[in-house]
Amino acid sequence: MHVERFESALWQTTSLLLVADGEAVAVDPCISRSEVSRIRDRSDELGVAVTHVLVTHADWDHVCGIAAFPGAVAAMGEATARIVESGAPAQELTEQAAAYGVDVYQPPRVDRALAPSGAHQIGAFVVETLPLRGHTVDGTGYRVRALDLLAVGDHLSPVEFPFASSSTADYRTTLAGLVDLLEDDPPAQVYPGHGRPLTAGEALEIARQDLAYLRELHDAMSAALAGGTTESARDAGRAVRPPRGAPSDLAGELAGNVEAQLAELLA
Ligand SMILES: [Zn+2]
Repeated sequence: MHVERFESALWQTTSLLLVADGEAVAVDPCISRSEVSRIRDRSDELGVAVTHVLVTHADWDHVCGIAAFPGAVAAMGEATARIVESGAPAQELTEQAAAYGVDVYQPPRVDRALAPSGAHQIGAFVVETLPLRGHTVDGTGYRVRALDLLAVGDHLSPVEFPFASSSTADYRTTLAGLVDLLEDDPPAQVYPGHGRPLTAGEALEIARQDLAYLRELHDAMSAALAGGTTESARDAGRAVRPPRGAPSDLAGELAGNVEAQLAELLA
């Protein structure tokens, strides 16, 4: 029984292959056809069949490998399943793959929707699901105790700042929950969707930094809004430094955090 990690050339995106008892589960297999094929080839080399694909959220860089495994059960959280069924990720995948010049498998699909918090038999593994909202509305973390690991999708990345595409309030709640888990019931390894695997201690440090950033963003914008205009609140938000840098094509996500926080303060 073991885990192997694969990394895409784009954004150091993580794919995992969880192997046990002659079969395997692929988590977020991604991104290009050649990169996903490498994961499939590796399962052939190990002599195991990929019986399940697990997906952490419906963003295109995480659903792009599902179609490479037509015989596997494509499993994901219920909210992700609804989004994939809407067809929006297939559309986004086509557009983004063209924009980044990568050839991808199409289309993403859903075979099984998982309740957001519970334990599920996924191939040879019992997988616990954790709702992780904040980056998107549909994030699911997967804890596999037999392998002593936790996959967290696009949270706790050592190479990106937190992108609160759905809600900064949700994101703060998610991080507070992860801090608690990492302090009291830590797995040996945490696998973020982007960047290298982390020890629980490293993941905890990132969780605290990201939470401090989002709290500072809230407090700075809230104070500016109380004495000024929405524009002064935006200025205050832009002045809050994220806990770490990120590739330059993600500047829009930083502005997105300011807009998400402002919308919640004005709600
Ligand atoms: Zn991602």
